[in-house]
Amino acid sequence: MRTILHIDFNSFFATVEQQANPRLRGKPIGVTGGDRMERTVIGAASIEAKHFGVKTGMHLYDAKRLCPEIILVRGDSDKYLEVTKKFLNIIKDYSPYVEMFSIDEVFIELKNAAVGNSALGVALIIKNRIREEIGEWMRVSIGISYNKLMAKLASNLQKPDGLVVISNQKQAIQILDQIELNEICGIGLRIKKRLNNMGVFSFKDLRLVPLKALLASFKSYGQTLYNMSRGIDNRPILPFFEKEEVKSIGHRHTLSHDTNDQEEIKQLLLKLTELVARRLRAKKLVGRTVSVWYRNSLKVDGGFTGDGMQMTMPYTSDGIEIFRASWKIFHSIWTGDKIRMVGVSISNLKPQNPQNLSLLPETIREEVIIEALDKINDKFGEFTLQRGTLLGTSKMKRMPNPFLSDRRFKL
Ligand SMILES: [Mg+2]
Repeated sequence: MRTILHIDFNSFFATVEQQANPRLRGKPIGVTGGDRMERTVIGAASIEAKHFGVKTGMHLYDAKRLCPEIILVRGDSDKYLEVTKKFLNIIKDYSPYVEMFSIDEVFIELKNAAVGNSALGVALIIKNRIREEIGEWMRVSIGISYNKLMAKLASNLQKPDGLVVISNQKQAIQILDQIELNEICGIGLRIKKRLNNMGVFSFKDLRLVPLKALLASFKSYGQTLYNMSRGIDNRPILPFFEKEEVKSIGHRHTLSHDTNDQEEIKQLLLKLTELVARRLRAKKLVGRTVSVWYRNSLKVDGGFTGDGMQMTMPYTSDGIEIFRASWKIFHSIWTGDKIRMVGVSISNLKPQNPQNLSLLPETIREEVIIEALDKINDKFGEFTLQRGTLLGTSKMKRMPNPFLSDRRFKL
């Protein structure tokens, strides 16, 4: 028998804002705008706002109609990440088996602890430490059970500040029979509808469907549904390993000849910035300080001359934006003389915002495009596909191989 805790912050972004500003406490607030949240939509609602029916993703107009006194607060992902970091630091004291499920949710597995008293004790201590070490306004709901599925369900049953134990399969089935199909993580509205079409409206109904029939309709997910209805879930905890912090990401290239051809240098910068951007995205980071430097072809006293400069811009992992900044920097430092080497790097890095912050359809589309480009380029080599805007900026001539013969490097 395993012991799993699912810990979930209640109304995370909004509660962090209330923690940061006591005047917002106890009031209906909506977090909106900020680095990646849309300005016309509620990105997160406080517990008080939820009482009025305000929901995440709701248009401001509708939110104000439901709750005219709602206070709108600008989102600040740095603040939320800071809280998540502190939270993980507390959690680590109780188990090395920690899975981050989202910015405000984790699963932890306690080994050698029976479901019951000892796990309950750990849960209470964690709740206390969150209040003492993160802030007295912060609230979490904790679910304790024998697998991830039931632990997550348990934490959902009581909000805010909940603590629910589902000790065994018998109890799990009792609870499953009291909830809607889509109240369990893994059954969305679409699957619910398909189940309804099969005459399945409850977990009790679902248990009556033979595995064969579920497999026929849902392929391998049929097995998952079969298990869910019985409170079975064998998924392991996927541990969270702290990664070594990357300070900067850069590329440079030494040409096989000297050049003062603007077009050639532009091509080179385009490629370098696209590579830097791709590595940022691969590491799920965004950066805001762009540095560009170059070396002249002439050696003076045994060394090269050259120049470099940096510039700060809004956080990004977009190759075009990094290119625009780089080209501007290059122009402001380049005297027009022949160069031999040019380099670009981006520093001041932070993790990309979590997915649920990008509510804007355009943003999501852009992310999908970038992801698709990255996949194709990973498979077929750099610059197989480039965006149309990139093509429009200059004549694209594919350079044969000396490109990047002198490797990537870290500052
Ligand atoms: Mg939450």
